[in-house]
Amino acid sequence: MIIQLDPTISEAAKADILSRINDLKYKVTEVNTQRAHYLVAIGKADIDLRTIGQLPGILDIHRVSDEYKLVSRKWRVRPTVLDLGDGVRIGEGSLSIMAGPCSIESEAQMEKIMQHLVDNDVRIMRGGVFKPRSSPYSFRGLGMDGLKLFHQMARARGIKIITEVMQVSQVEEMHDYVDVFQVGARNTQNFNLLDALGGVDKPVLIKRGISGTLEELLSSAEYVFSGGNEKLILCERGIRTFETASRNTLDLNAVPILKEKTHLPVIVDPSHGIGIRDYVAPMALAGVMAGADGIVYEAHEKPEEAASDGAQTLNFAESARLVRNLRRVYALRQELE
Ligand code: PEP
Ligand code: MN
Repeated sequence: MIIQLDPTISEAAKADILSRINDLKYKVTEVNTQRAHYLVAIGKADIDLRTIGQLPGILDIHRVSDEYKLVSRKWRVRPTVLDLGDGVRIGEGSLSIMAGPCSIESEAQMEKIMQHLVDNDVRIMRGGVFKPRSSPYSFRGLGMDGLKLFHQMARARGIKIITEVMQVSQVEEMHDYVDVFQVGARNTQNFNLLDALGGVDKPVLIKRGISGTLEELLSSAEYVFSGGNEKLILCERGIRTFETASRNTLDLNAVPILKEKTHLPVIVDPSHGIGIRDYVAPMALAGVMAGADGIVYEAHEKPEEAASDGAQTLNFAESARLVRNLRRVYALRQELE
């Protein structure tokens, strides 16, 4: 059960609620986020919610049977919309387009990509400065120096930044230079990292684990939320299946299922999802029709020269065409809804 407390609740009233819950042998966790104070109580006893719900200091009370609670739509019916500032929003009511290279490589590379984004009115740029690579000999990113430059250049052009954080020690050093922290597919269940991100006041996009179920993805989001950060986005980026014809299998089933199970925005990454440049655009458009709140994809001036993931990266002509089509398909979806 989730209990939302009145922010002005007295200590005595709170103690009374806690003792009533303890009597029921429920385990209680207090959650304080940027937005509100909650008690998440887990237990077996069948109770009449009204006995607790009528106590002073309670704004709202709900029974949530899912493993995950605070991210469940059973509790919060209205979709979460994140405001990144300067008119950039992620969630219901708009289609977020995030594009950029797999890796941040140089000032010249960023300059070109940012101009491309500005020309196409794309407000969020992706790009890794810490790269999780399957081989230790591959390019592993420009690190903090790259991020500082990325931030400075993006700010000057009104572009927001999403970039991957790989470990707990990076959360603090990256904090002032990112607009959205990305948790990569290899880190979806890095619970220490998720706990650390619970302590920040910046949005966090969590990618689905390479072999992760949707329930596991939602539980990862629950970690961050229960740690104090409600600003969450989920991302379907393909899972590993028996199929070898594509890099991963983009599971578009995830989109309507997640939209039904959670109030959080759901984004699709067709680049890592299929891994083949020619098929990125159709899968991106399919993601929008499936109900995604946004698309994140890889783009580079010269994909064949990209330091990583060139084979799934769009060139600027392909990217501009995709942006146009994404907006058209999104408009069609709204018309059909
Ligand atoms: C990325 O988006 O740069 C990335 C490494 O993706 P994933 O974690 O989904 O593999
Ligand atoms: Mn990549």
